[in-house]
Amino acid sequence: MATSRKTRQKTIMEKEIDKIDTFFSAEDVYENVRNQGIGIATVYRYLNEMKKAGKIHSYLCNRKQIYSKEEKSHCHFECEKTGKVFHFEIDSLDFIQSKIPGKITSFQIEVKGVCNDQICNEH
Ligand SMILES: [Zn+2]
Ligand SMILES: [Zn+2]
Repeated sequence: MATSRKTRQKTIMEKEIDKIDTFFSAEDVYENVRNQGIGIATVYRYLNEMKKAGKIHSYLCNRKQIYSKEEKSHCHFECEKTGKVFHFEIDSLDFIQSKIPGKITSFQIEVKGVCNDQICNEH
């Protein structure tokens, strides 16, 4: 029956997302559910539903959509040599607050540079 299959797939995806406590992409979820016969289109559809229901939040990360369960501030460091992305957290933006005519509720920070990986520091 199509309905119960859908329900089963949703339960599997829900469990996978439950295990994640940082940002994730549709591909991350797909990697963990593909062996159970769930396609990428199903993952995208499910994440869209979750987002519309306000159960997950989405951000633009390197022109890609990423998600989190709790509303987070998206702080992002990208290595210019390899394109590798690291996410980090900032507790307070007090140093910016004084320049803003209002109250900060969430923010996105995009930082670029060269990461500490050995291959990125050889010349
Ligand atoms: Zn990011
Ligand atoms: Zn690097």
